[in-house]
Amino acid sequence: GVVASSGAPRLPRERTRRVSVGGVAVGGGAPVSVQSMCTTPTSDVDATLAQVGRLSDAGCELVRVTLPSAADVDPFHAICAQSPIPVIADVHFDHRLAVAAVRNGAAGVRINPGNIGSWDRVDAVIDAAGEAGVPIRIGVNMGSLDKDVDAREDLDGPQKLVASAESFVRHFEGRGFHDVVLSAKAHSVPVTLATYRELSRRLPEVALHVGVTEAGTLLQGTVKNCVGVGVLLEEGIGDTIRLSLTADPVEEVRVAWELLGALGMRRLHPELVSCPTCGRTKVDLIPIAEEVERRLQGVRAPISVAVMGCVVNGPGEAAGCDIGVACGQGQGLIFAEGKPLRKVAEADIVDELFKEIEARFS
Ligand code: SF4
Repeated sequence: GVVASSGAPRLPRERTRRVSVGGVAVGGGAPVSVQSMCTTPTSDVDATLAQVGRLSDAGCELVRVTLPSAADVDPFHAICAQSPIPVIADVHFDHRLAVAAVRNGAAGVRINPGNIGSWDRVDAVIDAAGEAGVPIRIGVNMGSLDKDVDAREDLDGPQKLVASAESFVRHFEGRGFHDVVLSAKAHSVPVTLATYRELSRRLPEVALHVGVTEAGTLLQGTVKNCVGVGVLLEEGIGDTIRLSLTADPVEEVRVAWELLGALGMRRLHPELVSCPTCGRTKVDLIPIAEEVERRLQGVRAPISVAVMGCVVNGPGEAAGCDIGVACGQGQGLIFAEGKPLRKVAEADIVDELFKEIEARFS
């Protein structure tokens, strides 16, 4: 890569305008933040707060809650008041709900201006958000494009998303409102890549919320999001991420952190370094690695733990991690901070690893 010779911004995300979403900085080189969305009915305050708590515990930094009707405004207000993390209202069709959200504790509001009905109504939201100091995410989706844009035969999918998103951003800016985060989502990875690259070129000052939407269930959705979002993040594009999965939203947060960790950008949880096993392996390594992974979920420190099958790469990897084991015939050699400590029986490997982890990192 190119090494910057001055303090000038190198990456697209360092050049975006910074927005504060309830105190969480988005854009302008701020750490890429992780967000998700509640799946509970907003009318059920207790269930929603319980889910927000689980999301927050998993490392979710911003949470979106839908606001589908006027009857949900009071519950939404209660959720905002008690949530441990900033709450963003997700509003469609009815601008009055977006206005109510910014007056009832929302740290941000997400609208698709294309389904709000008219510019007058969009302007009512802009003005209310401006008064309340609340940022707006303009969220455009392939599945709900503005009819006029969708009908244009001169544009392909990404160009339609970009044209729609750009016209909205220009309108907001024309009204003097700059507290904007932008998303333009599709379920296709190539469309996602083309769209966000073009948005970043055309609107370099606008913070981008990146994700692959409707990406499917856990395995496929993880792959699609990690390819789409991962490539963009590596190119410096994307200020906040939401990885949509047809799954418990806690999984979205876990995958998002794995992605940020894999890219070497941010790490919240331990990294497990484990070998695939092969014909040389003389212990039952896979259950050992799975048990270590399970117990590591309780550790909130960015440590590395190696679980290795033999002496080929085992001692080197184990010594290179914070804690590790290199296995042999029915036993394992435990390492900590680069040094071999002791040999233990296969049945004791997990407990012995966690003795060392707990002594150092809890
Ligand atoms: Fe096989 Fe050893 Fe490599 Fe594991 S570390 S895959 S057991 S050679």
